[in-house]
Amino acid sequence: MQIIFRVIDLRSDTLTKPSDLMRKAMAESVVGDDCYKEDPTVNELESYAAKVVGKEAAIFVPSGTMSNLIAENTHNICNGTPLPLEFIDKVCEIAKSNGFAVHMDGARVFNASLKTGQPVPRIVKNCDSVSFCLSKGLGCPVGSILAGSTKLIERAIRCRRVLGGGMRQAGVLAAAGLFALKENIERLHFDHKHTLMIASVYIKALGLSGGQTA
Ligand SMILES: *Cc1c(COP(=O)(O)O)cnc(C)c1O
Repeated sequence: MQIIFRVIDLRSDTLTKPSDLMRKAMAESVVGDDCYKEDPTVNELESYAAKVVGKEAAIFVPSGTMSNLIAENTHNICNGTPLPLEFIDKVCEIAKSNGFAVHMDGARVFNASLKTGQPVPRIVKNCDSVSFCLSKGLGCPVGSILAGSTKLIERAIRCRRVLGGGMRQAGVLAAAGLFALKENIERLHFDHKHTLMIASVYIKALGLSGGQTA
């Protein structure tokens, strides 16, 4: 008898692959040269993404790293833990009263929103800019979004170009992003469910108790 092992690779939510429907949306995308702002699908993704996070404007970038670099980098020391809203608001208040802008590295802000029940626009309301990844649990092959004021995004377009992030017929990739924002946000619930299943087994195996696992 042959035993077939199915391997579930749990290294990261970056291992997601585009679904058949997402690939179909990519194949059918209308494209143009985005460096001239002539890619209708990129333009649509940018305005849709801005709306989803409640900011004036947004820009499609190749990676979260570039998105954070354009805005002011990230400390990323919280290990992806969703921070309490009061904490975020307080940080923004202190920054604002001292003349600083706040950028949120919101790579998984949709996960945080689903888990905490707070809408994304509310979470990022007091932040001047926010970055989030399309290429993780949302299932896109490539891409991140940086959102903020129209003025900030105008400068970001220039920064993206300088950093080598200007893309041509990027609508093929933006189509995946649009598909993800419309179809894949709800599916993050499954990731949370599976993570909790693994965490509870792990906690039991180690004889740990208590503690917050979400
Ligand atoms: C994944 C991630 C990034 C970087 O995104 P890339 O697209 O891999 O460059 C930045 N910050 C956080 C919190 C992330 O999870």
